[in-house]
Amino acid sequence: MNTNEPQLHRSAQPYFPDGDVVLRAAASEGVHLFRVHKHLLKHHSVAFNDMFHVEDGSFSDTYDGVPVVDMPGDRAEDLALLLSYVYHPTQLGQLSFKRFDPDKALKVSGVIRLADKYLLEPLHDHLVQEVASDWPTTLEEWGVRNAELQAIRNVIFMQKTTKVSRFIPEPVSAILFAQEFGCPQILPSAFYQLAQINFKDTWDTLDREVSLFDWDAQRINNTPVARWSLLEKDNLVRCLHGFQSIDDFRPEEHFLLSEHCFPTRERPDEDDYDVLRKQSKCYAYLCELVKVVWGKGGRRNPLQLLLECLDYEKYPELSKERFPEGLCGHCRESLPTEIARERGQVWRSLPRYFMLE
Ligand SMILES: [Zn+2]
Repeated sequence: MNTNEPQLHRSAQPYFPDGDVVLRAAASEGVHLFRVHKHLLKHHSVAFNDMFHVEDGSFSDTYDGVPVVDMPGDRAEDLALLLSYVYHPTQLGQLSFKRFDPDKALKVSGVIRLADKYLLEPLHDHLVQEVASDWPTTLEEWGVRNAELQAIRNVIFMQKTTKVSRFIPEPVSAILFAQEFGCPQILPSAFYQLAQINFKDTWDTLDREVSLFDWDAQRINNTPVARWSLLEKDNLVRCLHGFQSIDDFRPEEHFLLSEHCFPTRERPDEDDYDVLRKQSKCYAYLCELVKVVWGKGGRRNPLQLLLECLDYEKYPELSKERFPEGLCGHCRESLPTEIARERGQVWRSLPRYFMLE
């Protein structure tokens, strides 16, 4: 690196006048110089300790009166974040992000790679947790987060000019992050959220100005988008497999019956099914219910569709005229439990659907 090109050099933060070493790293524009304290870096990182040990006495270059150490391969922007952590580990420097920030996974990836290179395990763990915490790992967490996201979408929808994808986590970057940095527990929910996004709704459309006079501006702004183009072959295959599995899912109607209407449900044989099909009014009702709910269009969201089965009274196809007796009292009472069981099964199947096992 040639120090005779001062216009390329910029003192960047942190730059302490009493620091005893200058770290030099390439930035997206020019080169950044960080003046820091060796003892602090050594204290946090064995790798820095070894590096300064080797370099001691053999610095070829100086800047502002102190030795300069080149940081080849380290991006200055990432190094700045890492150093901010070294100086303020409890506040985590500038490494706090707003919840659900869709750029979070991409923003922290470079710093985590540096944290791994310089063996700063607490920083690695904190940042991985920071990204992972936006993704539910249980069905209960999924429900809570879903309600939060819906609330965000409602607010955005009222504002008309804001794009919802700027306020909710982005699944593709989260998937790549989870695979690189070892937090596979978030993959099922990230793939499942991705399943609800249309292939045509890509991240680059976010930058496109939407005119308020556009007749469907509100719809465009409120449609979640994904960074589809970052997906490579293996993950695309996971998507195809998972999306197909989700599309194919239907609850088996006889398992939605109460034990009163399907007493042999633990060990049914063909005759039992035959009796159900021919005689059970509850079974006929549930078949119609599943048909109606799943017939409303491909929303690729069986967890939500199952919930909508609980609102059976609102569907005109299930009116008193068509089904005078409706569901019997036993089936009414047990349906929420059976729906919860089906949803649990869907949730537990996600790793298999998306070939994550
Ligand atoms: Zn019944």
